[in-house]
Amino acid sequence: MRPQILTPLFAGLRTLDGIGPRLQTLMRRLLTPHEQGGEAKLIELLLHLPVSLIDRRARPKIAEAIPGQIATIEVIVGAHSAPPRGQRRIPYRVSCSDETGYMELIFFHASASYLQKLLPVGERRIVSGRIEDYAGRPQMPHPDHVVAPDKADDLPLLEPVYPLTAGLSGKTMRKAALQAVARLPELPEWQDGPWRAKNGWPEFAAAMRAVHSPQSEAELLANAPARARIAYDELLANQLALALVRKRLRKSAGRATKGTGVLREKIVNALPFTLTASQGQVLQEIDADMASAHRMLRLLQGDVGSGKTIVALLAMASAVEAKRQAALMAPTELLARQHLNTLTPWCEAAGIRIALLTGREKGKQRERMLGQLNDGELDILIGTHALFQDGVAFKDMALAVIDEQHRFGVHQRLALQAKSGARGTDVLVMTATPIPRTLLLTHYGDMDVSKLLEKPAGRQSVTTRAMPETRLGEVMDRLEKAICDGSQAYWVCPLVEQSDVLDVTAAEQRYAALQKRFGGKVGLVHGQMPGAEKDAVMQSFCENEISLLVATTVIEVGVDVPNATIMVIEHAERFGLAQLHQLRGRVGRSREKSACILMYKPPLGDTAHARLNALRETEDGFAIAEQDLRLRGGGEVLGTRQSGLPEFRVAALPRDVELLSAARDDAKAILARDAQLSGERGEALRILLYLFERDEAIRLLKAG
Ligand code: ADP
Ligand code: MG
Repeated sequence: MRPQILTPLFAGLRTLDGIGPRLQTLMRRLLTPHEQGGEAKLIELLLHLPVSLIDRRARPKIAEAIPGQIATIEVIVGAHSAPPRGQRRIPYRVSCSDETGYMELIFFHASASYLQKLLPVGERRIVSGRIEDYAGRPQMPHPDHVVAPDKADDLPLLEPVYPLTAGLSGKTMRKAALQAVARLPELPEWQDGPWRAKNGWPEFAAAMRAVHSPQSEAELLANAPARARIAYDELLANQLALALVRKRLRKSAGRATKGTGVLREKIVNALPFTLTASQGQVLQEIDADMASAHRMLRLLQGDVGSGKTIVALLAMASAVEAKRQAALMAPTELLARQHLNTLTPWCEAAGIRIALLTGREKGKQRERMLGQLNDGELDILIGTHALFQDGVAFKDMALAVIDEQHRFGVHQRLALQAKSGARGTDVLVMTATPIPRTLLLTHYGDMDVSKLLEKPAGRQSVTTRAMPETRLGEVMDRLEKAICDGSQAYWVCPLVEQSDVLDVTAAEQRYAALQKRFGGKVGLVHGQMPGAEKDAVMQSFCENEISLLVATTVIEVGVDVPNATIMVIEHAERFGLAQLHQLRGRVGRSREKSACILMYKPPLGDTAHARLNALRETEDGFAIAEQDLRLRGGGEVLGTRQSGLPEFRVAALPRDVELLSAARDDAKAILARDAQLSGERGEALRILLYLFERDEAIRLLKAG
């Protein structure tokens, strides 16, 4: 249960004056763009910070007002002149004066009766807005504020400017934010006193008040004390939550799982290649973890094509040798099925019983499989999210391997653990996108990391070229020739907005066009296709029955068809760097030369240009990941947008990387001293966790 003291901050926006259903919806989309429905909360509004400032402190006389600048001027209202009837393009003008001269207030499409009330002839008013020069005379179109002199205090001399969305005005936003600020309770301090003093940071509520009423441009900077404090709070909540998850996973004591090497040897003998030194090294690290009584929590990073799948199988084989079970979880059905196809022959060579469970396995067959799983008659289960479903129970799972982890959230990881019968399952997480150190910390906390630094021998580099879409014909010609020579190719269609449906239309159209030229040699896969159809197309591409596979980004992660050597990406400018790297990683998987053609629609923006260049310059996924982080925010690199993991609202990476490492150390020290967060500071920290919606972590505390 969330502490009472936070209740006002978790009230819906509609509890604010002036916010009805329409504005609430607009604000919700602005504040929580990744959530569907629900109502935005005050805390979300409070964490939506101004990006700039309108300074109305300049108080010139009319004659001193400088065109182009914001001025606040006290005037005597003179004559009104309304436009002639029906002449809507002529403005309504109000003449004003002071002792130095005259100026006009200009209103388009205005209501005369409203303006007569607002600006009564002969009265004094303070007006504030941008001054323009009209044929040598000053005027102020649509003043932002008009107040009577005795109401001068109502006029905000320093006005914060918030990021907005169509239909939402700055005024509405400011009024809402001010009300939210006024409802802030004084919260107990969760930060370490000396640390806060050293940084000169205000208390939380004071910091919130300050960020919403900036007094200078400097206060808008990320290193301004109030802002830095809130960013740190957010990072601390994140690091504390991760530390709690990690502790919880570690606490349920692990078990020693020691293989005999018998099955592993059989598999290795059946492989058409020898393991790389890197693969051998990583396996040793995994073996050592599994054999120890500690629970393994290891992240295996390997660039695309570095051969993670076989490492996973050999690790799982150890578990089977110890008469236990293992699970391999993939983010998509397509990948799960591919893993089954790849691994089955090798498992057969070793007598390992392997099966697949996705949402599609139903009825009797599913029942039988689950029965076998429960009785220990299955050794390895491969699957998708379906592995979480009720009724899935292992007899004795020793190892869970999670492939392409960044698509899963922390809670899913925990759910899989629960399936093991809570007996300290070892966990190996594999990511295809190399993750920069900073992001590792924010998303995984301190996991142990193994890296596959080496690619299998004999891989050719992939020739990468960028071409404007005007050269589509040329690309087609070359493709035709390559296909005649027996090559296989992918053709990836653009991501249109974030909408699956539009992606599909684009892919279908391209498919139709390519079919005209290549006939039955072309296949199409996309996310909206029924699973069985997808499989059939993938299968015929694997078996080289079709030469050209038109696809949406469903093939982004993990697909492995070594014979494919050409990757065409349409509208490459719309993809992120890491995503392009993943896509390119689908080729260059054999000894044949491979090519990646990045088609783009000119003109290229700066960032898109930098992205395509980076891709041409290097194939090193780690270098690309660092570059990607520089070019965009952290959340996107990991694909957290899709996975629904919370992104930071105030903190930002890599900008706040120093605060991040401080927060990590802080979280460690906190839990070392007060593991249950039960001391005075601990209680306050619980409030922090709720405040930043890390409720999940609190549940872990309770579970103890
Ligand atoms: P990823 O790390 O991207 O998941 P995969 O596990 O799909 O890569 O491996 C890519 C390809 O390399 C597969 O066809 C796999 O069989 C092959 N492979 C893996 N290890 C080696 C090796 N040591 N030598 C040669 N080929 C290998
Ligand atoms: Mg893979």
